[in-house]
Amino acid sequence: MSRDTDSPASVGGEPAAGHRIAVVGAGWAGLSAALRLAEAGRRVALFDAAPTSGGRARTVELATPLGRFEIDNGQHLIVGAYRETLALIERLGAGALLGRAPLSLGSPAGLRMRAARLPAPLHLAWALATARGLGPGARRATLRLMLQLRRANWRGVAGETVTALLARHRQPPALVARLWAPLCIGALNTLPGEACAASFAAVLRDTLGADRRASDFVTPHAPLGRLLPEPAVERLRALGASIRFRTPVRRLEARADPATGRARWRIDDGEFDQAVLAMAPWSAARLLEASDIPPGPIGDFAPEPIATAWALWPANAAPALPRWSLLDEDEGRCRHGQWLFDRGTVSPLETLPLPETLSPLEPGPAPAGARPGPARLAGIVISVASRLDALTPEAVVAGVSAQLAEAFGGPPPAAVKLVTERRATFRCTPDRPRLGADQLRRQAPGLWLAGDWLWPDYPATLEAAVRSGTDTALRILDARTAPGTVV
Ligand SMILES: Cc1cc2nc3c(=O)[nH]c(=O)nc-3n(C[C@H](O)[C@H](O)[C@H](O)COP(=O)(O)OP(=O)(O)OC[C@H]3O[C@@H](n4cnc5c(N)ncnc54)[C@H](O)[C@@H]3O)c2cc1C
Repeated sequence: MSRDTDSPASVGGEPAAGHRIAVVGAGWAGLSAALRLAEAGRRVALFDAAPTSGGRARTVELATPLGRFEIDNGQHLIVGAYRETLALIERLGAGALLGRAPLSLGSPAGLRMRAARLPAPLHLAWALATARGLGPGARRATLRLMLQLRRANWRGVAGETVTALLARHRQPPALVARLWAPLCIGALNTLPGEACAASFAAVLRDTLGADRRASDFVTPHAPLGRLLPEPAVERLRALGASIRFRTPVRRLEARADPATGRARWRIDDGEFDQAVLAMAPWSAARLLEASDIPPGPIGDFAPEPIATAWALWPANAAPALPRWSLLDEDEGRCRHGQWLFDRGTVSPLETLPLPETLSPLEPGPAPAGARPGPARLAGIVISVASRLDALTPEAVVAGVSAQLAEAFGGPPPAAVKLVTERRATFRCTPDRPRLGADQLRRQAPGLWLAGDWLWPDYPATLEAAVRSGTDTALRILDARTAPGTVV
C-alpha cells in the first residue's frame, strides 16, 4: 500500500493527546472539514482510499482518439448560490479559474430566458417578461409559484413530490416540461414524480428566489481538481496535516482512554480523539457495519447515477456552440442529453507535464492513427442515468451525437466518451433520512459525519458537501462539544 506521508505530522511521531483528529474522505466535505480543523491548530490526518483528492468531483484522465485529456469525472454545474464553495475556492487562490455570467437559459427548441443585471427580484421579473418558448400562461404561473413558495417560507407539504407541488400551484404542462422538469432533474438527480418538493423549494429559494448573483452560472476554466481539491491538499500539507491517499479505512476501533475515560479511535496505524467520516452514506454504512457499529438510517440512502458524454472535435473543426444550453431530451428517440456545457479548447496531456496523481478512466495509449492536438470539449449531462441501464453505451453515444447535430449543426464530434458515475448522488426523495453530523454520538462518541447528504433539505451538491464539512469542523471546535465517553 503506498502512502503519502511527506508532511511533518506524519513523520514527527504521535502528536499531543486531545488534539488529534482523523478525517476519512478527501472529497469536498472532508477537505473543507480538514482545512477548518487544521487552520484552527488541530493536528489532522486525512485518509482517502483513492489515489487523489476530490471524491465525486475530481480531475481524471480520459484517453480519446484526439489524445489524453485532463477532464472532470463528471460535468458539474456551479451557481452563485454556492456561497461557501465559492468563498473557499477564492480563499485557496483559485478564484481566477472561475467565470461568472447572469442566469441565462436556452434550448434548441426555442426556450429563451435571460436575467438582467438588475437588483432582485427585478432581475427575475425581467427574465420572465422577456422569456420565449415557455408556453402559454407561463409567466403568471412562474410568478405565482415563486410568490406562494416565498409566502410559505419555501417549505413544501411533508412527503410531497415535485410533481405534486407543481400541480398544487397549477403549473401548465408546457412550463413543467420545458423548465421545471429539467431544473428538477438537473438539480436533484431525481425525476419530478419521485423528487422531494422541499429540496426543490430550497434550490429555488437559494437561486431564483435570492439575490441576483445567486442565480449566476459559474463556469470553471480548469478541471475540477484545480478549483478546490488540489489547492486544499497543498494548504493542508503546509499546515502540517498528514495526508494519506490509497489508504482505505476498513475498520474503526474504539477504546476508552484510561486517563480520561474518553473515546479514542484507532484508524489505520494511528489513534485519534475524534474522527470524521466524510464519505457517501453507503460508504459510511459499510465502514460502520465492518466496525460492528449499527449504521441505522445511514444505510437507507439509495444511489442514483449521472452520466457525462464528453464530446471532442479538433479545435479547428468544431461547430458553433453556446457556452451552455438545455438540450431537448427525448427518451423515445434515444436523445438523452439534458444540458450541454462548452468547455472551450483543451490541450492534450502529451504536450503538458503529466500530473502525478491523476486516476485514469481509460488507461492505455490513444488508438493508432490518432492525431493528438488541441480539441474543443463539451460536456453533455445525463442525470437520472439509471434510465440508461437497458441501453448499450454505443446507443447512448450515437443518440448524443445525433442530438448535437440536430441542435447545433456542423461536423459530428470526432469522439464521444461516456463516463457514468454509478453512485453520483443519493436519490433526493421526500422519504430519505434526515440526519445530523452527530448522528453517532450515542453509540460511537467522538465519531462525526460530514458529506453532501447531511445539509438540511439540500440535494447532493458541492455546496452541501462544503457546508457540511465546515459545520462538522465547527462543531468539533466548539468548546462546549466535549468528546464523548465510551459506553
Ligand atoms: C457525475 C457527477 C455529476 C455531478 N454534478 C453535480 C453538479 O452539477 N453540481 C453539484 O453541485 N454537484 C454535482 N455532483 C455531486 C457532487 O459531486 C457531490 O455532491 C460532492 O462531490 C460530494 O462530496 P463529498 O465530499 O460529500 O463526498 P465524496 O466526494 O464521495 O467524498 C468521499 C471520499 O471518501 C473516500 N472514501 C470512501 N470510503 C472510504 C474509506 N473507507 N476509506 C478511505 N476513504 C474513503 C472516497 O474515495 C471519496 O474520495 C455530481 C456528482 C457526480 C458524480
